Amino acid sequence: MSVVTREKLKADFENFLAAGMKIAVHSSLSSLGYVEGGATEVIMALTDIITSSGLIMMPTFTYGRQPYDPDVTISYTGIIPETFRKMGGVERSCHPTHSYCAWGRGAKDILSGHEVEEPFKKGTPLEKFARQGGFVVLLGVTHAANSLIHVAQEAAQLPYLNRPKKVLVKKGAGFKEVIARRAGCSLGFDKIAPFLGEDDLVRKYTVAEAEVLFMNANDVLVRGEKTLKENPFLLDCGNPDCFACNEMRAFKI
Ligand SMILES: [Zn+2]
Repeated sequence: MSVVTREKLKADFENFLAAGMKIAVHSSLSSLGYVEGGATEVIMALTDIITSSGLIMMPTFTYGRQPYDPDVTISYTGIIPETFRKMGGVERSCHPTHSYCAWGRGAKDILSGHEVEEPFKKGTPLEKFARQGGFVVLLGVTHAANSLIHVAQEAAQLPYLNRPKKVLVKKGAGFKEVIARRAGCSLGFDKIAPFLGEDDLVRKYTVAEAEVLFMNANDVLVRGEKTLKENPFLLDCGNPDCFACNEMRAFKI
């Protein structure tokens, strides 16, 4: 097995990324092969290319598994975002279940407005990112990890989205209880791929050993919203035991 270096990553990323771009990265470190230096080198490759004139966002979701303190609560979206979260100069949003981290130009601004129940509705970080011309990078993962599809679900005002739960979030020296909307099952999100067009809105690249899906976030959001309005139950994962999808199926009658 060959060793993947930062220089190799940069050379491959430069096929579709450049200084000043806004990118949201969903990632699998192991998909790249053996990366010398691990997650840190992937992040450094990205910051070297995008520079502080652009913006890098990553999901640092916590799912309400423990009381949320943006300064310390660990994320469950992979080692790359978890490493990114702890880097100097990286900001984190305040949503108690679906926070984002961001670095670069406008990071604080894009993370503001996340103190709402619905993590992906209009005015939340990923929706703003799409409207501001950002690009989504699925690095070794599929649409099952593409949170932009959650934004499209919210934009389409699907009937089954109102799934509140109580979570604890840091306030002063303690925690307070707030309501957050559960985002639901994403395991069926690849079913949207044919509607985005294989060689149309989503372009494929290779970085080291990983396949990358690269897309203009707003183009996919607009197409996704239209698709889901026409097919509101498209994203059912098909597992008869899926709790979230069973909640959705109850609206089918
Ligand atoms: Zn499901």
